[in-house]
Amino acid sequence: MQFTEHYDVVVVGAGHAGCEASMAAARMGLRTSLFTLNADLIAQMSCNPAIGGIAKGHLVREIDALGGIMGEVTDAVGIQFRLLNTSRGPAVWSPRAQCDKQQYRVKMREMLESQPNLLIQQAEVADLIIEETGSREEDASGGAEDESSQRRCLGIRLRDGRTVGAQAVIITTGTFLNGLIHCGEQTTPAGRSGEPPSQLLGESLKALGLRGCRLKTGTPPRLDGRTIDWSRFEAQPGDADPTPFSFRTRRIMQKQVPCYIVFTTEETRRIIAENVHRSPMYSGQIKSIGPRYCPSIEDKIVKFPDKLVHQIFLEPEGLNTHEIYVNGMSTSLPVDVQLGMIASIPGLEKAEMLRPGYAIEYDSIDPTELERTLETKKIDDLFLAGQINGTSGYEEAGCQGLMAGINAALKIKGEPPLILDRTEAYTGILIDDLVSKGTNEPYRMFTSRAEFRLHLRIDNADRRLTPHGRRVGLISDGAWRDHLAKQERMQTLHTLLEKTRVSGELPAPLHEKVGVVTGSTYAQLLKRPEMEITELLPLIQPLLPEFFTQDGFEIADAHLSSAVRNELKSVETEIKFAGYLAQQEKAIERLKRSEERHIPDWFDYKAVGGLSREMNEKLQRVRPRTIGQASRIPGVTPAACSLINIYLEIQGRRRGSAQPTV
Ligand code: FAD
Repeated sequence: MQFTEHYDVVVVGAGHAGCEASMAAARMGLRTSLFTLNADLIAQMSCNPAIGGIAKGHLVREIDALGGIMGEVTDAVGIQFRLLNTSRGPAVWSPRAQCDKQQYRVKMREMLESQPNLLIQQAEVADLIIEETGSREEDASGGAEDESSQRRCLGIRLRDGRTVGAQAVIITTGTFLNGLIHCGEQTTPAGRSGEPPSQLLGESLKALGLRGCRLKTGTPPRLDGRTIDWSRFEAQPGDADPTPFSFRTRRIMQKQVPCYIVFTTEETRRIIAENVHRSPMYSGQIKSIGPRYCPSIEDKIVKFPDKLVHQIFLEPEGLNTHEIYVNGMSTSLPVDVQLGMIASIPGLEKAEMLRPGYAIEYDSIDPTELERTLETKKIDDLFLAGQINGTSGYEEAGCQGLMAGINAALKIKGEPPLILDRTEAYTGILIDDLVSKGTNEPYRMFTSRAEFRLHLRIDNADRRLTPHGRRVGLISDGAWRDHLAKQERMQTLHTLLEKTRVSGELPAPLHEKVGVVTGSTYAQLLKRPEMEITELLPLIQPLLPEFFTQDGFEIADAHLSSAVRNELKSVETEIKFAGYLAQQEKAIERLKRSEERHIPDWFDYKAVGGLSREMNEKLQRVRPRTIGQASRIPGVTPAACSLINIYLEIQGRRRGSAQPTV
């Protein structure tokens, strides 16, 4: 076929998934083109002007550790940084940053534009160009296609008629596929407010026979900050010493601003309760499923009738705008009701609404259609990433985009794929959950989804993942050198704390706290729950001055950089929780053994006696790669896994093949 243009990789969509995917492919040396409906809205934050948060902050650290860009961009444009959950254990600490929304787009575009091999194009992708490489048969019901049929994606067709060839196509169209906005009784076809939906591509994907479902999400109104009486609210400042997202950022330079805490009133509750029948969620106008963990304000009022007031945060959308995001007031009620709700809050009586809140319904693809590389099972060289796979959130989209970009590039180069397992990354958990279980509501990450949380901390994401990033070509020589130096520095400190013993009396404040501990190692001291590593600084600094002067700081400088503090905290955690970490290590080994029991493509589930019809259907649909993955498919029991294990031997012997392992 003759194409108008040809690239190694084509990425459709310049949201959070598309930016990471295209950057990764280009950095890995492949000629890449990124297509978007509007080049001025690259990396647009459709909803909240914030990156990170609990578990989401972990994902951003992982993106960064692998060589992605979301963390660096956030560090450059963040206007309020907070490390969340610090009253709990370090496994669940997570960074969050309020960002300047406009600057976020500008910075991301700047990074993409300065990347060699990467071309950004504004155009609507209307169709996929598919080559049939096998016979396609329909089953008796005329629905599903025969498993043996295979097709290959050769490129895309643009609405203006151009055809663009590619060795791999990555679709990251977010909420745009057949998007429909609801605001009260009014509905408008749109990808998000002010942007057209993607209908042609939506139909083209449907025609390919990929299973899908319809999901829903929503956003709150935005206000004009000049019309708000700020004196009525409690300010919530960011951290005095902001914690960066990127392992490569030494210090946050951006000006920081506060957010404000607000409470709804009984009047707000009355207005919503009286008008709830006008909300498309309750009138039956919206039938698709939204995120349970992110309820609209009308949902909160209906589901928690005893709660008289609800907390809301007023968050600035940037340094050069008066636009304020009303976090906690997501709604699809009509505009007149939204205005009433806002005016019912003391301090917002005169607030002008810049944009109303709304809900959006959109098509997504069932992620059990995907391999763990995020390539579709039915169509070779076609990858999907981001909200199109049923997830919600910038961070969930970003990590998928990165993995799709990496795996598309590796496939083109003929190299083995990068599959992160559940024990080494939240990104691995997210992808494993999606491809094994699918999702019937927008999926977001929670720390509770991880089996080994203490291993998957924000402080060790680089130790877990940067070697992978280096292997695939996303970590530069300089960044790799810095990474190795940091690991060595931390190991030296760890060893020093394990080996050095207290001799004589401790300095006064420490002595008062712990008494006489002569002969104990510094590590033993640190294992006491009440001890923090910063309290040992007077003892450690003279022994290891280079650890503290890495940023050019004098030892006497009490204000250590965030990077140094993070390294200290990481060593403290490894020492304090050494026992738990060792236990988890053993459990991880056990899990890995079950993961390693590979289920080959030829395995015939129909021939396994004792599997229920429902289980059989699910297993054939998902086609898990390992016994471990099979065990996580909802409804597949441990007994069924044992049967599969036995039949692996039987069918393997019949085929005369050796014991199947990875
Ligand atoms: P998007 O960021 O949506 O980007 C899609 C890209 O695809 C755009 O660049 C678009 O131009 C491009 N595109 C689409 N079709 C075509 C085509 N045919 N040709 C070329 N380009 C195309 N997440 C949360 O975590 N919490 C929330 O509360 C929340 N609320 C939300 C409320 C609303 C109203 C919306 C719209 C989203 C909300 N989200 C929320 C979700 C969050 O915005 C997304 O998860 C995230 O942006 C998804 O990133 P993405 O890269 O997959 O897609």
